[in-house]
Amino acid sequence: MNIRGIRQDLLSLLLQMGRENHPNEFAGIIREQDGIMEELNLLPGTIGREDSASVFYDMMPLDTHVAGSAHSHPNGVILPSDADLSFFPRTGRYHLIIGYPYRKNNWRCFTANGEPHDLEVIP
Ligand SMILES: [Zn+2]
Repeated sequence: MNIRGIRQDLLSLLLQMGRENHPNEFAGIIREQDGIMEELNLLPGTIGREDSASVFYDMMPLDTHVAGSAHSHPNGVILPSDADLSFFPRTGRYHLIIGYPYRKNNWRCFTANGEPHDLEVIP
């Protein structure tokens, strides 16, 4: 499944989650319908620091509508960390990073190998 877009409501929710959890990180699983990212599933215990959140990806459910993951970077650097690059391939194909200060453009999508991936924001 190629992911071509993200629902505006989901993006707003992710930015809000970033703000609410700051200075901690949040992380969750993104589910898609028809190639559009539509839904966030939080995993128990994933709220934490950048170096601790990835552990919980091993507990994620496997289903065909999992597009990938989303998590926040309270340091505002919207690039995958070394830890991110090691868990992305285990967690799906597309990964969102939301960064401080969590405004409209403070996010990016990356493929599992860390390459930027353009997404259309769909109302
Ligand atoms: Zn990260």
